[in-house]
Amino acid sequence: MAIRKVCVVGAGTMGNGIVQVVAQAGYETVMVDIKQEFVDRGMEAIKGSLARFVKKGTKTQEDVDKIIARIQISTDLKQAAKDVDYVIEAVFERADVKLPIFEQLDEACPKETILASNTSGIPIALLASATKRPDKVIGMHFMNPVPVMPGLEVVKSLLTSEDTLNTSLEFAKSLPKETVVVKDSPGFVSNRIIPLVLNEGAKCLEEGLATIEDIDKVCRLSFNWPMGPFELSDLVGIDVAVDLLDGIYEQTGWERYKPTPLLKRMVEIGYTGRKAGKGFYTLFGKK
Ligand code: NAD
Repeated sequence: MAIRKVCVVGAGTMGNGIVQVVAQAGYETVMVDIKQEFVDRGMEAIKGSLARFVKKGTKTQEDVDKIIARIQISTDLKQAAKDVDYVIEAVFERADVKLPIFEQLDEACPKETILASNTSGIPIALLASATKRPDKVIGMHFMNPVPVMPGLEVVKSLLTSEDTLNTSLEFAKSLPKETVVVKDSPGFVSNRIIPLVLNEGAKCLEEGLATIEDIDKVCRLSFNWPMGPFELSDLVGIDVAVDLLDGIYEQTGWERYKPTPLLKRMVEIGYTGRKAGKGFYTLFGKK
């Protein structure tokens, strides 16, 4: 199946990054969110990211203009999705938000359209069950920041067809992303591992083992990680980390995935990381 036009639902951290790489790869792309200000903010983020490539000399201003020209924005999901070949949903990590979107997409899209989710851990088979095309529903789990990270977990549910998988793998390759196919199980692979690191980092801080700078430093210098748990929490969003842990805990009952109180408190007080302009480093970093 030839993919010509792609719709990305959600213009947040992941959505706008996905729109950027899809448009960069030459596809007509439409980015949808619920409010004009959110799509505008997504567009500004894309422009900012592309401007950095121009500054580094890896793209010309002409390349950037062409990429931007391929991107449409919309606040009307049904209208935006009516003529697309592939959809990537990247809204909040909540089944009660994602399920109605899959229902609407199923009604609005042509019957051949593949519906992918960038979910970090909600079962793909559950999202598929909201549609009349469960064989065409798949997980496309991009990594943050999308324009930079080469990896992509492709999640095949019990209901995903081989055709949908193969088309999605070809599409991913064209972006270009390196794929790993994983089973539709809680957290897939990446999010089985990373939330435990973020949770354990917060536990170390709660117990006063070291400062956040030093906890991050141990991880960077000892494991050669590019960033430690707090730098990563602030980047991905502390709310996202809590949602990941809660999601796996609810599905499995595994105690190790219970979010530690400090993580939950950070979310309750709105310190969710870079996207909120305040996070772990604002509160606990060296003043
Ligand atoms: P975000 O909060 O930055 O953005 C979510 C966007 O979805 C917001 O702009 C919101 O307005 C929009 N939205 C909410 N309801 C909508 C609706 N009904 N229609 C259209 N838009 C709607 O979140 P994010 O970090 O970009 O995460 C999006 C998805 O990607 C989640 O499923 C998350 O688990 C997953 N993910 C996140 C990361 C990460 O590092 N942040 C990494 C991989 C996957």
